[in-house]
Amino acid sequence: MKKQLQSAFDILSTLKKSGYDAYIVGGYVRDHVLDIPSNDIDITTSATPDEVLSLFKRVKETGKKYGTVTVFLNEYQFEVTTFRTDGEYQDNRRPSTVTYSQSIYDDLVRRDFTMNALIMDESLEVRDYFLGLDDIKHKLIRTIENPTNRFQEDALRILRAFRFVSKLGFDIEPNTLAAIETEKDLIETIAIERVMIELEKIFEGPYYQKAIQLMIDTGVSFKLYGLHLGLLKLTTLDQPITKVEGFIIAFIYGEWSPKWRFSNKVYRLINQILDLHEVTKEDVFNPFIVFSNELEPCLLANRINVLLGYHDQEKLIRNIDDNLLVKDVCDLKFKGQDILELTTLKKRSIIALVIDDLLFNVIMKIMPNDYDILKEFALKRVAELQNEMGELDE
Ligand code: ATP
Ligand code: MG
Repeated sequence: MKKQLQSAFDILSTLKKSGYDAYIVGGYVRDHVLDIPSNDIDITTSATPDEVLSLFKRVKETGKKYGTVTVFLNEYQFEVTTFRTDGEYQDNRRPSTVTYSQSIYDDLVRRDFTMNALIMDESLEVRDYFLGLDDIKHKLIRTIENPTNRFQEDALRILRAFRFVSKLGFDIEPNTLAAIETEKDLIETIAIERVMIELEKIFEGPYYQKAIQLMIDTGVSFKLYGLHLGLLKLTTLDQPITKVEGFIIAFIYGEWSPKWRFSNKVYRLINQILDLHEVTKEDVFNPFIVFSNELEPCLLANRINVLLGYHDQEKLIRNIDDNLLVKDVCDLKFKGQDILELTTLKKRSIIALVIDDLLFNVIMKIMPNDYDILKEFALKRVAELQNEMGELDE
């Protein structure tokens, strides 16, 4: 047996020896039934967080509000959560309060889909209170109890349904699907960060085209801030995509909205790739493009081009990168410093423009990387730019 599963069983038996009820629950059990690998093992128990904290040596309180303690055993970590019932839901999102319970049923009935409410213990026997095994057999995603109520309690479940379509290729059970259609406006109440996490998982699943098609059919795609046409395009692709690729393609065909919140780094990368895609989809990558954008962004832009049916330039890009005459502005034989020494010019903007011209000429092999030749060109350009910009200096 896998050491990780054995470690989880060790936690169950520690809890049981102290008189508590404990099971493996949720995604791990679902994936176990489906015989697909899963790395996260969640445990649910009648022990309160304080009791769990006192029973294990290496523990950390991770979500006391929701009753979660992380237990570290061997090289693994496990989320151990106390059986709970959820109080009133606020703003179609998280419950305002949670109440601990002694009943496994209470804990399972608050979960989202029947296939996610299975439990298992050391006997490896799966227990099923909501016909989740039947739904798995028929490849159906079905909410536990009334779908309209369940989506009104927590609208994120709408997107989670599509996430599981994308992961497993299942269908959404008709009543659940109908409730998604009627409750889809609630998506606008979900924090954008949570929407993005689900969307990323949808993009990265093996059945993303099917999930996105269902989002279009139910009108959910119109609730995703400008992405509708982009999502439509994604359904026509025939290869797996990463989350960044998914967003970039969605923005190429859809519309950008400031609602989307990326880190500065990812935001810059997305914009860089959108520009690169525009200039390289029909034209070839040249050495100056590869130099200015660097290898990895060029490869990503090329991958986007390929996904969208444009020609594959990967070999060319790698070849250009291997053979760049200048890898860094410092490799120029004539530098900004030389301009400062040879002229009275102090204006940084002019120097930067001239250096860009030098880089372009050398990298594109219009000029050799030779001090005298670059010097002659640079001084001429300085004079021209000073004339054009009508300014001697500060
Ligand atoms: P994955 O393999 O993608 O991680 P998972 O089923 O483990 O799938 P998680 O988001 O890790 O999904 O959630 C763990 C479990 O918690 C779910 O299986 C489900 O039982 C429950 N759950 C998570 N989010 C919700 C929710 N919004 N509403 C109700 N139950 C939820
Ligand atoms: Mg999980």
